[in-house]
Amino acid sequence: MVKADYTIERRYIRIRSNTRPGTRLSVGSPAFFVAHDTGNPGASAEAHFRYFDRQQERSASAHVFIDDSVILEIIPTGTAEDPAEKAYHVVRNTPLDNELFGCDANDAALGVELCYGGNINFEAAYDRFVWYLTYSCWKWGRQPSSRIVSHRQLDPTRKRDCEQSLALAGKTMGNLIRDVTERMANSPEKIIPDAIKLSSETCDHVIRSYIQPAWHERKTKGDIESAGHYARLADNVRQASAGSKLPKSNAQEIIYTWLSPAWLKAEREGRQSSHFHRMANELRESSGIPVETQD
Ligand SMILES: [Zn+2]
Repeated sequence: MVKADYTIERRYIRIRSNTRPGTRLSVGSPAFFVAHDTGNPGASAEAHFRYFDRQQERSASAHVFIDDSVILEIIPTGTAEDPAEKAYHVVRNTPLDNELFGCDANDAALGVELCYGGNINFEAAYDRFVWYLTYSCWKWGRQPSSRIVSHRQLDPTRKRDCEQSLALAGKTMGNLIRDVTERMANSPEKIIPDAIKLSSETCDHVIRSYIQPAWHERKTKGDIESAGHYARLADNVRQASAGSKLPKSNAQEIIYTWLSPAWLKAEREGRQSSHFHRMANELRESSGIPVETQD
């Protein structure tokens, strides 16, 4: 069982505007996970607790620090009863978190820090890091391949974590994602990414903006067969938002008929387009098609 491998310790730093503002994540449960390393070789989870509990000069923090002996949450994440709070682990003016997820990492993601270097045993710390990410994906029904990003991937001009610490052990982000995915697959609870629910927002948007108008148009024309197709499509999307798997052909049809053209049009007109990309990836996730990254 994913839950039983390690225990999570919780010792929260005091509430302070530059480290722990004490406000909830704007999305409720964590929507994605940013894999960091501390950039501070040899410093333990405990050392980072002490640092961030006192630190007053700069706006910075993260939720959880993981070394070779402890997984220490210093800001509530929602793994226990305390609801997930904001931390300051990704600079606000990088645009990639908004493009990929439609929100700022600090408002929506957990910052998960790997402690490394010095006397810290890499394998022991890495195993806890992989487990924690696995547990988080399991708890909130997130798919590792689309919901775990490194700090470097979000802020490539300024940051090198957590790739820099993984590289010390000959590992890459690809290894990390595969290790988490494998651990999920080997869990007796069988966390099946296919069963990840479509969000109700995407469900409503797709039905109201695209499927219903198409259904109505065909019905008005007396094209009963096509109208029936759209009625079934809407049903399948509703069921996907209740946790059923969306047929792949349905996901592809919605993406190619409506979302891709809408995305292209928004791009051409210089309007916000990332939400179309995000909805397409949600449909891919709920039908078991690999998600696509935007570049
Ligand atoms: Zn970082």
